[in-house]
Amino acid sequence: MAKPRKKKDSGTAAAVWKERELLDGKLVDAGVVILRTTGCSHFHEGACSMCGYNIESSIDIKPEDIRKQFDKAVATLGDIRFLKVYTSGSFLDQREIPREIVNHILQHCKKMGWRLLFESRPEYVTDARLDEVKGIHEDLEIALGLESANDRVLAYSINKGFTVANYVRAAEAIEGHGAATRTYVLLKPPFLTEWEAVKDAAATIRFAATKSATVSLNPVNIQRGTLVEKLWRNWAYRPPWLWSVLDVMRSTKDDCAKLICDPTGGGSERGAHNCGECDGVILDSIRAFSTSQDASKLGSPDCKCKDIWRTIIDVEGFVSGGTVDLQRFFRPQRT
Ligand SMILES: [Zn+2]
Repeated sequence: MAKPRKKKDSGTAAAVWKERELLDGKLVDAGVVILRTTGCSHFHEGACSMCGYNIESSIDIKPEDIRKQFDKAVATLGDIRFLKVYTSGSFLDQREIPREIVNHILQHCKKMGWRLLFESRPEYVTDARLDEVKGIHEDLEIALGLESANDRVLAYSINKGFTVANYVRAAEAIEGHGAATRTYVLLKPPFLTEWEAVKDAAATIRFAATKSATVSLNPVNIQRGTLVEKLWRNWAYRPPWLWSVLDVMRSTKDDCAKLICDPTGGGSERGAHNCGECDGVILDSIRAFSTSQDASKLGSPDCKCKDIWRTIIDVEGFVSGGTVDLQRFFRPQRT
């Protein structure tokens, strides 16, 4: 994957890059564009505990700026088959992206013959809006950030601001309009132990799989300015282990039409990580599985840090009631 380019002027997208994606059983070139907008509506209602994407948004962004960002970004992408357009919030929230800009993007994708993926909170995925967007471009995949299929986790760990029932309604509306649903599932929102997080993500993937063409597992990474970052700085949170990512994927891959994962910041202190020695091999296997769905690629040789992971799961279950980053209290291993 090429490195995202970061620029701050309002007429330039926050990031644009190319990556490979399995589309209808074929590996194709996909473009990714992160648009800068006025921001996620939910950010002003307290925001999600792990989401720092609002850092890319600004109230000064005008609709024309967003059009310029898009046009400039796609001009650099060359020959692609699939385009993913993200904002810091919801593509279908007209306060964030006015209708005429959405229509411009849809028309461009139709002209180019690209499948378009965009993300939206469920409250903006209405029958009327789906009629409009599908009327312009048929080939759509709509991503919903369900995160967890447990309403208590949504409310207390994530502050998501919607319920599982809201997600189900939106996913059914998308299906009813003949578009594909992609569901994002979070691994390890705050206040869950490592093992609770593994069980919650696995249960959520199985739930989402029945309503999704693609399920994307997203291990929490520490983003700036978030509640999760505050907890992490106070030794009260550790991003998930890559062993946990593997465990979740292995136990749910057969339930999904397509299960993908590309851990943001994987292998670093702020992303899903293990001991530092085995991280690269495991990340490679996760990515190789995601672009092939070949189960034989999802594996790794065992590493001695797997015992630490097992011990932490055991100790967290014993102490209960806390999600302290226990590993920081472990003495360095002497062998
Ligand atoms: Zn290791």
